[in-house]
Amino acid sequence: MAASDPDCLFCRIVAGDVPADIVRRDERSVAFRDIHPQAPTHILLIPVAHHRDAAALAAEDAHQLAALVTVAAELADAEGIAESGYRLVFNVGEDAGQSVHHTHLHLLGGRSLGWPPG
Ligand code: 5GP
Ligand code: ZN
Repeated sequence: MAASDPDCLFCRIVAGDVPADIVRRDERSVAFRDIHPQAPTHILLIPVAHHRDAAALAAEDAHQLAALVTVAAELADAEGIAESGYRLVFNVGEDAGQSVHHTHLHLLGGRSLGWPPG
């Protein structure tokens, strides 16, 4: 795990080199709105440090993995969807459609999401 990868889109968002609609930021994580939202609330939560996927983050910094879920719950509250419910998703690898290889937690809500996902 490198702390930052200059070729990684989400590292570049963390650095401020790529603009994003950032909703919350602290020393160790950044949350910003997905550029192609799949629900009225669609926020991506990422660690500041570059980890390839959720499994790598769990192995390398389990506390930070848990911290992303805590922040997601706080943002769900702030977005007014804590009561109605929301979905948290980590896509890992090709079959899941992971397109950015910097761990990100999707926070989705604001409509009935159904199951299973398409
Ligand atoms: P994945 O498919 O890897 O789980 O999710 C990557 C997400 O990043 C997608 O939902 C996609 O819409 C979002 N995304 C890709 N590029 C950008 C970008 O430049 N800015 C923002 N805010 N989201 C992006
Ligand atoms: Zn990165």
